[in-house]
Amino acid sequence: MTFDIQKLLRDNIRKLKPYSSARDEFSGEAAVFLDANENPFNAPYNRYPDPRQKELKNKIAPVKNVPAENIFLGNGSDEPIDLLIRAFCSPGKDNIVAIAPTYGMYRVAADVNDVEVIEAPLNADYTLSVKTVLNTVTPNTKMIFLCSPNNPTGNALEKEAMLEIMVNFQGLVVVDEAYIDFCPEKSLLPLLAEHPNLVVLQTFSKAWGMAGIRLGMAFAGQEIIDVLNRIKYPYNINILTQLKAMELIELEKEKSDWVKILVSEREQLAKKLQEFPFVVKVFPSDANFLLVKTHDPRGIYDYLVDEKIIVRDRSGVALCEGSLRISVGSEMENQRLIEALEALI
Ligand SMILES: *Cc1c(COP(=O)(O)O)cnc(C)c1O
Repeated sequence: MTFDIQKLLRDNIRKLKPYSSARDEFSGEAAVFLDANENPFNAPYNRYPDPRQKELKNKIAPVKNVPAENIFLGNGSDEPIDLLIRAFCSPGKDNIVAIAPTYGMYRVAADVNDVEVIEAPLNADYTLSVKTVLNTVTPNTKMIFLCSPNNPTGNALEKEAMLEIMVNFQGLVVVDEAYIDFCPEKSLLPLLAEHPNLVVLQTFSKAWGMAGIRLGMAFAGQEIIDVLNRIKYPYNINILTQLKAMELIELEKEKSDWVKILVSEREQLAKKLQEFPFVVKVFPSDANFLLVKTHDPRGIYDYLVDEKIIVRDRSGVALCEGSLRISVGSEMENQRLIEALEALI
């Protein structure tokens, strides 16, 4: 399949002359910076942050085993989701295809940009139907959103199926791997170099425990990364986030320990939940949450709110009828949930 990014881009984005910041025009070492109208007092917060986050990317590159020039950093993964749609989809004309059910932000970003979303339902067992996805594509489809492990179903999608979609589609295939640290062997990141239309999204919000600092990653070929860099806000990652992330990325060992604990907690929680008479099914999960089908989702949700325990009611979502999505918490939090539910029997 031929894949031409320049042809895929919106005309106005292809022609765009990006804002050139003071730090773009001179980024070397200097003793006196009088180019950005900054205040000389209050270091280091007085300086604009590095618009390309070079130092931080150089720390992320070896952790992810991806060259720094193939990394884009955003204000959460929500930023690259929005930027990809804006760069490639003409409002009122182009569309995106997304699996269903899945994460709600693809649709919100598309709606904001007046871009149609065509849903490609998963199979009843939540596996990916390559045929459904490819049959859903129209001549105006610029990208396909896959999510693996998928939110809210919890399962990782089959690598072979995702590959088949990548080689048979001439637009972008965006694979959101927000939960991949809970099943790293299922990542598509190692395939990045061979597939120019693949974009992998990851985040520091989940396994790394940094949702509060807002830092998401997009991994892709350099041409796609260049496009994102050209249209982002010049200083999209603030200095506090860059500094904190460089500090916290040293906690890779802790992250792995947290993942082990959460995976073990998840399995125990699944087993206990399965025993409740009002639970129909606990779906297998590759992530840090469980999708739990119950006889009375609203009743259980409201009861738990009264008990000051908040879960996510997904029972209104197609293919998730009757289901609650429950994050795996600490041992104590999970215990509180189980105790509260025991009172319901
Ligand atoms: C939580 C989540 C994210 C994280 O988004 P951030 O903006 O990086 O916090 C992305 N995708 C999915 C599917 C998620 O569930």
